[in-house]
Amino acid sequence: MEKRELLYEGKAKKLFTTDDPDLLISEFKDDLTAFNGAKKSSEAGKGALNNKISTELFKLLEAKGVPTHFVEMMDDNHMIHKRVDVIKIEVIVRNIATGSLSKNLGIKDGTVLPFTLVEFDYKNDELGDPKLNDQHCLILGLVDSQDELEELRAKARQVNDILRPYFAEKGLNLVDFKLEFGKDKNGTIILVDEISPDNCRFWDMESGEKLDKDRFRQGLGGLKVAYEQVLNRILG
Ligand code: 5GP
Repeated sequence: MEKRELLYEGKAKKLFTTDDPDLLISEFKDDLTAFNGAKKSSEAGKGALNNKISTELFKLLEAKGVPTHFVEMMDDNHMIHKRVDVIKIEVIVRNIATGSLSKNLGIKDGTVLPFTLVEFDYKNDELGDPKLNDQHCLILGLVDSQDELEELRAKARQVNDILRPYFAEKGLNLVDFKLEFGKDKNGTIILVDEISPDNCRFWDMESGEKLDKDRFRQGLGGLKVAYEQVLNRILG
């Protein structure tokens, strides 16, 4: 399979058409951005690590009955996946308070939440990804019905119920993460995008060390080593 036309270039990936109208190729870039693109950098090898981590996690989720867009890893930086209509909602799942939740609501950083919180953000860079409630989602026409919102919540919880204990066994706290979903050609809602330390927070259970993009956001350094640790724990 070959890359044909560049369909779209995002902050972390380029999307290409292929000779199969139902399949696309994502190229995982080494670019790093934070704070809606205000902070930028690049780290050689980051794209390949995210591709490998996402591949392993999509395979795990598929094996546990979660439908995803994943087809196969093509090479270090490329993933072949299904073509979908992306739902412009970022589904945020939180087990432990940190980041924007702590900042916006004053919940002490590191507080284990009494239950898993699922939130929706508008996938819209121009507006800075604002928070959405169900009525906003319906008024904006981001989904067709309230049932679809419930389906997004249920699927996000299902992913958390699989990944949280999976990472706990590997000594990592899955603190929070962002998921994206799309509708395939049959209208079925499936998991898309990537699952990597770019859009998940992982804290080492022993040391509390951050093994995710907060190393870049907070200027901590050692990003590549941290992402390698996540991949090695997945593979180990
Ligand atoms: P927060 O809202 O605290 O900034 O982020 C919550 C979680 O969702 C974090 O794991 C973060 O990585 C992820 N997340 C939220 N918005 C985005 C986004 O626009 N891009 C990426 N890559 N991750 C996001």
